[in-house]
Amino acid sequence: MNDFLSTPIEFLKGVGPQRAELLRKELNIHTFEHLLNHFPFRYIDKSFYNTISELPYIEGHTQLKGRIVGIDDNQKGKQKRLTVKFQDHTGIIELTWFQGIKWIKPSLQLHREYQVYGKAKFFGNSFSIPHPDIIPIDQADPNKGLKAVYSSTEKLNSKGLHSKGIEKLTSALAQQLNNHIREILPHSILSKFQFIPRETAFKQIHYPQNLEFAERAKQRLKFEELFFLQLELLIRKHISLQKTKGIIFPEVGSVFMDFYENHLPFPLTNAQKRVVKEIRSDFKSGHHMNRLVQGDVGSGKTLVALLTMLMAVGNGYQAAIMAPTEILAQQHLETIKEFTKNLPIKVEKLSGNVKQSVRKVLHQELENGEIHILVGTHALIEDKVKFKNLGVVVIDEQHRFGVAQRAKLWRKNVQPPHILVMTATPIPRTLAMTVYGDLDVSVIDELPPGRQPITTAHYFEESRLKIFGFIRKEIEKGRQVYIVYPLIQESETLDYNNLMEGYEAITRYFPRPTYQVSMVHGKMKPEDKDFEMKLFVEGKTQIMVATTVIEVGVNVPNASIMIIESAERFGLSQLHQLRGRVGRGSEKSYCILMSGNKISKESKKRLETMVRTQDGFEIAEVDLELRGPGDILGTQQSGMLDLKIADLAKDNHLVVQARDTAREILNDDPNLAKPEHQQIKEVLISIMKKKPNWSKIS
Ligand code: ADP
Ligand code: MG
Repeated sequence: MNDFLSTPIEFLKGVGPQRAELLRKELNIHTFEHLLNHFPFRYIDKSFYNTISELPYIEGHTQLKGRIVGIDDNQKGKQKRLTVKFQDHTGIIELTWFQGIKWIKPSLQLHREYQVYGKAKFFGNSFSIPHPDIIPIDQADPNKGLKAVYSSTEKLNSKGLHSKGIEKLTSALAQQLNNHIREILPHSILSKFQFIPRETAFKQIHYPQNLEFAERAKQRLKFEELFFLQLELLIRKHISLQKTKGIIFPEVGSVFMDFYENHLPFPLTNAQKRVVKEIRSDFKSGHHMNRLVQGDVGSGKTLVALLTMLMAVGNGYQAAIMAPTEILAQQHLETIKEFTKNLPIKVEKLSGNVKQSVRKVLHQELENGEIHILVGTHALIEDKVKFKNLGVVVIDEQHRFGVAQRAKLWRKNVQPPHILVMTATPIPRTLAMTVYGDLDVSVIDELPPGRQPITTAHYFEESRLKIFGFIRKEIEKGRQVYIVYPLIQESETLDYNNLMEGYEAITRYFPRPTYQVSMVHGKMKPEDKDFEMKLFVEGKTQIMVATTVIEVGVNVPNASIMIIESAERFGLSQLHQLRGRVGRGSEKSYCILMSGNKISKESKKRLETMVRTQDGFEIAEVDLELRGPGDILGTQQSGMLDLKIADLAKDNHLVVQARDTAREILNDDPNLAKPEHQQIKEVLISIMKKKPNWSKIS
């Protein structure tokens, strides 16, 4: 261990025991090294002044020089506020405070010259800066220039360790670095990407000489972090491949060939072919397959699942496909039975709805191997359900299944069955690469031919009658319509009322017996839900009023309109899923997003994105940008997303570079045995040691 870097933090000048205690508790900073790894999140550039006339062209923070020409602390309504008029030779703006007024006010004098720093916002028809930093010009820091800004906490603030206090410490420490930080990336990588040396990067990130250097420091440190993460993931995957022997299916088998040559209902798309080939090569390899298939809604995942299962069956194994809901399981059963009606195989369904007596028979037939393909809900992972020899399990719409449930499947056979996970929720490639680092990822990036694009439009309440008129015309043509309402936990009652009101309005406008309206929502009993759903699937009702319970997977090709009410409240991936319910047949389909007149910037961006594109991956990228990776993936995998400096959402190209570089190095030197990789290996081992449950690398 490097002595300098491991020096306890209280020995840094300006720290002392009290502050050290706080730094440890609040920021987990115990040593010099930890402090160096507390990175700034932006920089203040005080090297120049803007003028007020430039404000419309400035994004982010700005520094101004001018005089106070008015001070007003009248109470407006209930809220206290202080408003200052601030003028330079080009114009006048307001500075406002809502808090800390009694501290700020005494330091402000009319007609005195000040330096002001903050973020200008456009309000009404003029600019104002809320809560700016303000100091008399004659007291301004003569050492102007670039300063790093750090996150802090309330407790640290109280001991003078606000951003500025921390900056004093880090910049002092950065200036003491003198061959204390050794390089850990091999020369080949440094020169390939023209990265600055590691020590320089640490100096420049905390105490930059200019913005360009700060940026280069950031890039280099981000790459380093991502590179080690990717190395770790690739090695972990390698180890798990070696540990788990996979069942080998030596051939594709006669059932597969019979189906493929004689009964395929339509030619496979190239993307489907490619994915089936990838799966085929997993099955031959002797490795245990853990593969994620991402394919947009309607890309034909079911057929890929079936072909996968037929390979197992042809090799004397059983196969199972698991869907998140009863309706979906039923649909899969029907589709698969239809596809395989000419094949000598037995397909059955097991779900919560199946009667006890029937279930007993099913259990029996599974154990003696009579059933070849089992379709089911999560009922099929119950311990009671035993197979003779389960060879592969397909999990459809995986985001509804937890990791624990997936793990249970492993134990369904002496040798764990191969696992194919299918999802229609596209995850941006760079994120998938990281979060599903242990899964192989296949992508069906092509829709079957002949699909008409879905027309998507955004409307406000005042167009409702026009839209109802449009629905009526489509129904007259024999089409069906979904109308979906949001249902979000916190405002459940309110949402429920909205749904009911909506339902009443719709039944008034579309009265029986000419029109039949179904309704499905989360408060209904499952049997009632299924009953209503079935009416719609069978075309007995023309309108389906629902909450998002219908989001996943339902296939009603005759439905041509999807209306989403309060669309501004839905997330992007949800909107995309919902839209995927239409456009499944040969008819032209429409998705109509209804929203209130006042919507947030973010909602607007979501709706615009939906109107602009139908490409699930593009939508996923925007979603990632808006929400960040943690929200998209849930807390489950968030540990992996605990990055110090890199950002999986924003640093796309660095993730790819890091992944490619890590892969190249491991291809060339799988055990990191070469002398030039010793440094990397050492760092990697120390990283992996800190994580429990991780196997050692040799
Ligand atoms: P998803 O990927 O959303 O699960 P499905 O498997 O339900 O999609 O397929 C959507 C529709 O496309 C189904 O009606 C299916 O029969 C049809 N389909 C699948 N593959 C093809 C193909 N290669 N050519 C034409 N139609 C196809
Ligand atoms: Mg599907």
